[in-house]
Amino acid sequence: MNSPSRVGETVTCPTCESDEITYDGWLDCGSIDVRCEDCGSRWCELWQFTGIAMIEGEDNREVES
Ligand SMILES: [Zn+2]
Repeated sequence: MNSPSRVGETVTCPTCESDEITYDGWLDCGSIDVRCEDCGSRWCELWQFTGIAMIEGEDNREVES
């Protein structure tokens, strides 16, 4: 069973297909910098907002239908 957080996520280098990739930062402005340790390629993972998950408190927003 796949973890939802990994669906569609690039886990290998798009240039050399190595899995020796390093995340250079954290989610910032909808993208994360990634680089390949083998060939030196760098790219951004682009993220799209899909919703929220409450950590504390109640979600009291009205759900429009
Ligand atoms: Zn590479």
